[in-house]
Amino acid sequence: MKNTRQRAAILRVLDESAEPLSAEEVFTRLRETEPAMALSTVYRNLERFCSENLLARDDFGDGVVRYSPARRHGHYLICTGCDARVRIDDCPLSSLEEGLARETGFSIESHSLTIYGKCPRCAGKDK
Ligand SMILES: [Zn+2]
Ligand SMILES: [Zn+2]
Repeated sequence: MKNTRQRAAILRVLDESAEPLSAEEVFTRLRETEPAMALSTVYRNLERFCSENLLARDDFGDGVVRYSPARRHGHYLICTGCDARVRIDDCPLSSLEEGLARETGFSIESHSLTIYGKCPRCAGKDK
């Protein structure tokens, strides 16, 4: 039962977060409600959720794996100045995928798209 509650707590943290979180960030946010949960437990559950397709891994190329609810497919704008992340809920690639699948015969499973730039704050600083 304890295991079930911990799993629910981990999923809730990611559901409530507007942006993807690393295992360490999930661990930090769980400290209030689940102070006994070890980082290794958080990590193990996150990986299990990925294999169950409840979570998706987000890789922004910085070597940190972040997780977000799988059903919330979307993309991100990332500020190269301050690392701010803005989620784009619309996926512009679904129609492209359909065309590619037709042209190439690929059965497409997933894609990634991340857009980098400067947020308004950082762009202002550069002047
Ligand atoms: Zn910025
Ligand atoms: Zn997409």
